[in-house]
Amino acid sequence: MSIRAVATTVLCSNRTMSNRSNIPYHLRPWRSWYQLGIWRRRREAHLRIEPLCRFCLQSGLVVPAEIADHIEHHRGDWNKFLTSELQSLCKRCHNSTKHRLEVRGYNVDVGEDGYPIDPRHPRYQNDDIKIETS
Ligand SMILES: [Zn+2]
Repeated sequence: MSIRAVATTVLCSNRTMSNRSNIPYHLRPWRSWYQLGIWRRRREAHLRIEPLCRFCLQSGLVVPAEIADHIEHHRGDWNKFLTSELQSLCKRCHNSTKHRLEVRGYNVDVGEDGYPIDPRHPRYQNDDIKIETS
């Protein structure tokens, strides 16, 4: 068996790659998965079904989506990469709101009423805080 064949066999049999934080994002091996035809077809099919940015819609804005985003990060798990639930996002939301959501665990955006739109926001975690409605 050639070295190339061995390398291919290892890659195919072990598609779960670690998401070690000491590897910079741009060097993580799973980034190349986004160039595969199977991903491109899944992405295009998802954007046809959900063409608008989900986060912008929650704020009352109609913005075309460009990114099919894994709601739960796949962290190098091949099966999750191909099968986990997606959401459509614009580039701005993907690079800002989604990033903050992953870091903090909640969305910091506020609705037209001035209150956070995400029920996981710390504003709603304190039982002493009562929201008055008129
Ligand atoms: Zn958006």
